[in-house]
Parts: sequence; structure tokens; C-alpha cells
Amino acid sequence: MPFVAEAASRPNSPEARDTAFVVHGLTNLRRHLDEGPLVIESGRGVWVRDRHGRDYLEGMSGLWCLSLGYGETRLIEACRRQMETLAYAHLTNHRSHPAVIDLAEKLIEIAPVPMSHVWFANSGSEAADCAARLCWYYWNAQDAPERRKFLAHRRAYHGNTIAAASLTGADYAHRQFNLPLDGFLHVACPDYVTDALEEESEQAFSERLLADLEALIAREGPETIAAFFTEPILAAGGVVIPPQAYLDGLQILLRKHGILLVADEVVTAFGRTGEMFGCTTMGLAPDLIVCAKGITSAYFPLSAVLINARVFDAMVAQSDRLPLFGLTMTYSGHPVGCAVACEAIRIYEDDAIVARVRRLEPVLLDSLRRSLRGSAIVGYIRGRGLLAGVQLMARRHPVQTFDPTQRIGPLCADAAQAQGLFVRAIGDTLAICPPLTISESEIEILADRLARGIADVEKDL
Ligand code: PMP
Repeated sequence: MPFVAEAASRPNSPEARDTAFVVHGLTNLRRHLDEGPLVIESGRGVWVRDRHGRDYLEGMSGLWCLSLGYGETRLIEACRRQMETLAYAHLTNHRSHPAVIDLAEKLIEIAPVPMSHVWFANSGSEAADCAARLCWYYWNAQDAPERRKFLAHRRAYHGNTIAAASLTGADYAHRQFNLPLDGFLHVACPDYVTDALEEESEQAFSERLLADLEALIAREGPETIAAFFTEPILAAGGVVIPPQAYLDGLQILLRKHGILLVADEVVTAFGRTGEMFGCTTMGLAPDLIVCAKGITSAYFPLSAVLINARVFDAMVAQSDRLPLFGLTMTYSGHPVGCAVACEAIRIYEDDAIVARVRRLEPVLLDSLRRSLRGSAIVGYIRGRGLLAGVQLMARRHPVQTFDPTQRIGPLCADAAQAQGLFVRAIGDTLAICPPLTISESEIEILADRLARGIADVEKDL
């Protein structure tokens, strides 16, 4: 019996109580009941320890979020200080507090393109959802209420509330949930590595996708489209780095048709790609930017939507018709979250995290390439900053992917976990997104454990 399943079979063990009471997402519920959870009890730096005392290198920063690692005392102190001073305040009815003012001012200062104001929520999903609503509000204010449709990429992840899940281009977020909502349309994922035609250049691939997009816009009518959502790099879609020609052409097309661009920087912001924002890395100039995760290094749930002057001025002009701007939540701009985010951003700056990530990018990619050189099932390794994807393939030239029913990606992620490393399988891509504080020797351990896990799976093929 597997170790965890054995623990789960003991009555009153944490594993047994978990299976008795807790529902887990992105989890096979039947298998979970049979095998039980891996219960993590503590974390320090880039390491976590399960309740049986085994250590794992957290190669995914949890869910792409724990950018400064575990046990960061400055964040813990900022949280404690703010809880003591003012544990809660809200932003409705003209109220404010120092922490939200400090954070909004800082976000506008470091924004990758000129931005005007910031709207706050608690999760990436809420922020993406409400960014969509802000787009609708904007077009209504512009007397263009027919601009209601949204475009996003297939395989992109934008969250799991109703609008955010509709933006998400994944079957698992839609099927059996009556989603996507009408008017949420998905276009081809800009994944040149797996989706290019044989002998197709990156330029030709980009032009083909853009021609298809232009045809879709013409069919739907540009005057019916509110906004296009994209991540600068599609993280949960499989660490897809869109070709520059595609992103450049996309923005020309959107400008031509007056369509708003929303950048979902939930994963990519705050140093992850070797710039403070992924928009700088990938040359995006959006109207709205959605941030979460790294904004507090996951020490407190907080998200933000940065709004440019085009949209904000229209929102203000709407006050002449509507007495109240209606979009708010109890915890919008929560003072503890804002204080933690201010401190996290100070740490990113004090510790020169962007420069550190740029220095570590080749260290990570080189050690992955070196450790995985001998593997016949590793087709391609890609990355920007400390965000990387290892693409598993049956054959590289011409590209032949594995039959999804073989579940090669999940098997490799499980095998890496058995070696003491957390990575995430997205189909047959293994995502790697360690805390930005990881050391060079820990990167070597990460690459070595990944290679051992993949080798174990390869042996049995
Ligand atoms: N956007 C992106 C790009 C994400 O990766 C995620 C979460 N993985 C979300 C939005 C949703 O964020 P949350 O889970 O905090 O709601």
C-alpha cells in the first residue's frame, strides 16, 4: 500500500479526517478518497516538510505564488504590525486607510506602462472577473453597450469565478459547470512548440494565428468585442511563451478595432520573468493589469487591477449618470493584505530580486538542460526568469506528442515528488516556478531530482 494511502487507512489520522471532510480542487475525487492527501505541516525557505518528516523542494512556489519562500520574517512582522494597528478597514463610502494608499501609489509607480488608479480584491479570480466587469462598465460609459464579448486564449488560465472561469480556456473549468458564459470566445493558444505546422516558421505561425483572429473579429463584428485577455506568458496553460511577432501583431489588431487589452499578470508580475512585470518582458501595453499571488508572496490573499487613464476617466465620467460606482467587496483593499504587499514589494526592491532572477535564469535553464540531456522523452525546455517548462514528447523531429491517456506528465510529476521535489504537470509539460529566493545549489538539487523522477518513468515505458 502506498505510504500516504496507508496513513489514510488509520482512523482519526489527519489523512483519514481530510478524506472525511475536505473537498480538493484539481484533484481526482475518487482517487483522493482511496489514497488520501499528502499533509504538509511546515515550510522554511524553498523547502516544505510533510507530517511524516519528509522534505520536499517546493519547485512550484505552491501555486506559482510563494515568491519569497517560507519564513520571511519581514512579511510576518508587517502582518502582525498591521493587525495590531488596524486589523480591518474598508474603502466604501469615501473611507480609506494608510496601507491601501501606500500600496496603490507604489503600484502606480512601478507599473510597466502608465497607469492611473488601482482597484483591489482578494484573489486572482476576483480580479480577473472584475476586470471583465470594468471593461463592460467602460463600454457602457462610452455609450457602446453592445461591446460585451471577450476574447482569450485556449489553454489560458484566468481563474475560477464565473466570468474568470469563462475566460479560462480549459475544458475542466467548463464541462459540467454550464460554462463558458455566452460571449466568452477562445482563440488558438500561441504555442509554437507543439502547435506549429510542419516546417512552419515562428513568423508564419504568428501570422496564421493573427489572420484567424482577424477573421473571427470580422465575423463577430469588432463593435461587439469589449476586450482581449492574455497572460504575458501562459503559465497554467503549460508555460507557453508566445512568439514576439504574435504579441506585437495582436496589439496592432486590437488597437485597430478599439478593443481593450487586459494583461493577466497574476503569475508573471513581481520579478518572476526577470522584469518587475511580464508586460515589460513581452512588450505588452495593456489598458488593465491583473495582479495577485506574488503581490503578497502568498502571505495574505490580495489582488489588484491596475487601470489606465482611458478607462478610469470614463469610469469617473459615468458618475454624472450613476450616483455610485458599484464594484466593491468587504475585503477590497484589506489593510493587512496591503501592508504585507507593501513590505513584499520593498523586499523585491531591497533584495534586487529582478536582477537576481535575471542572473538565475541561465543557471536554471542550463542545469535543467544538463541534467535532462540523457532523457529521450524530454523534447524541449523553455523559460523566462524563474518560470520554466519541460515539454515531454514521444519524438522531437517531427514533433510527436504522447497519447494523453498515458498520463506521462502526471506520472513524471508523481515520480519527482517521490524524489522530494514538487513540480506541476500540465498535460505533458512539467512546470517549474520556484521561489525567487532559491539558491544556485538548490537549483542543482531541483534539476537533479527532476531528472531522477523522469528517468524512473522512462525506465517503465
Ligand atoms: N490568472 C492566472 C494567470 C492564474 O494563474 C491564476 C491562478 N493560478 C488566476 C488568474 C486565478 O487566481 P486565484 O487562484 O488567486 O483566484
